[in-house]
Amino acid sequence: MQKNEIYEVEITGMTEEGDGVGRIDGVAVFVPHTIVGEKVQVLIVKVLKNYAYGKLLEVQKPSFGRRKAECPHFYQCGGCQLWHMDTETELAYKRQKVTDCLRRIGKLDIDAEPVEMPSEEVRYRNKAQFPVTPEGMGLYRRNSHNVIPVEDCLIQGKWNQEILKAVTDWMEEFSVPAYEESTHSGLVRHIYTRNGESGILVTLVTAEKNIPHRQELIDRLRGLSLPIAGIVQNVNEKPTNVVLGYENHTLWGDGCLTDSIGKVKFQISPLSFYQVNPKATLRLYELAKEFADLSGKEVLWDLYCGIGTIGLFMADKAKKVVGVEVVPDAIENAKANARLNGIDNAEFYCGKAESLAPRLVQNGEKPDVVILDPPRKGCEESLLKTVTQVKPKRIVYVSCKPSTLARDLKYLTEHGYSVKPVVPVNMFPKTSHVETVTLLVKEKGCP
Ligand code: SAH
Repeated sequence: MQKNEIYEVEITGMTEEGDGVGRIDGVAVFVPHTIVGEKVQVLIVKVLKNYAYGKLLEVQKPSFGRRKAECPHFYQCGGCQLWHMDTETELAYKRQKVTDCLRRIGKLDIDAEPVEMPSEEVRYRNKAQFPVTPEGMGLYRRNSHNVIPVEDCLIQGKWNQEILKAVTDWMEEFSVPAYEESTHSGLVRHIYTRNGESGILVTLVTAEKNIPHRQELIDRLRGLSLPIAGIVQNVNEKPTNVVLGYENHTLWGDGCLTDSIGKVKFQISPLSFYQVNPKATLRLYELAKEFADLSGKEVLWDLYCGIGTIGLFMADKAKKVVGVEVVPDAIENAKANARLNGIDNAEFYCGKAESLAPRLVQNGEKPDVVILDPPRKGCEESLLKTVTQVKPKRIVYVSCKPSTLARDLKYLTEHGYSVKPVVPVNMFPKTSHVETVTLLVKEKGCP
């Protein structure tokens, strides 16, 4: 097989990233925008030692689940992977992906439950980050840091368009330069928006502290007929592709967003993690609360707690909540959020879960139920060791990556816990990502 050759391929599987997989002469070929069961014509675009990449030229035998992509940017943009499938096919793909990981990586003989779909398929996000470059602002092209101009992203709120336009007009009028990654010059790096109950928080990520014509920017954003709650500057001086720096300055209004999940209110700093799909988040937390099955007598550990969301959501049913999180702003938010809701049985500590959990144990803390909600890379094995040694009766594992979930479940099931059920929730429709909540129960007879 060589680059630029054209082949016919049958798609027999799908990757975790949402690409179809076929075989040519026994070699795996990854083809984005295809579906299992399809016969497609592909152009080979890259050949590596053990596999190759193909570009879809034509669908010769379409899947019943195929549909015309509603988003005009789908075939260029790196944001979404699944606009070419109907919802049923998307949910089946995600369920299969979780089940495959449980079996292949977790060595567990169980199926994931059907994927829950609590939100709309479009315009479900409450957070957007648009890169700004001298070529324009928009979204990243697939597998690259080149920006394709996107005025409207269909998984985002429509109002983002007005904010992008206001900032573009201001930059043009006052010759404010966009940041250029290759030369590490220019000023405006990203436009980052979040919306919630208090309105919209607009954060301008800049490469320097000084913003020329800053009052004009504020006036323009405030002049929009949108409920702007606050305007924040985030300074990121580093030549990195990480979006946010550590320094925030409130330019106008609130420096934090306020939002509610169920009956609990949260303040959220731009630097703190917050789930992006409010309806799916509520369902995810309800499931986690059901699995935690608290009676009011339990000590609950909320590890990787962010702004305290899950622990505070369950605090009314716990004797005590102990939250651990590595980002200092998030822990400040978590403490403030406990006060905001009049919750006085929650404590929060800043540090790595794998370092702080053993210290909590040394101080005589013993959890009855543990929540694990790590980032994509999952938990450090040393943390899983601490948790299994302290023997909570239940562990609720919330995961945003099935492969690391499965790896961690393997450890937990080898150390005295049994898994049931594994419930995927479609937090990110149209993308290949899936959120999962899993209940682990300490096995009987386990000392
Ligand atoms: N439970 C929260 C946040 C989940 S996201 C919610 O539902 O909103 C994962 C969180 O883990 C992030 O806030 C991230 O900052 C934090 N984190 C990443 N590595 C960590 C570590 N080693 N120890 C503790 N927290 C960590």
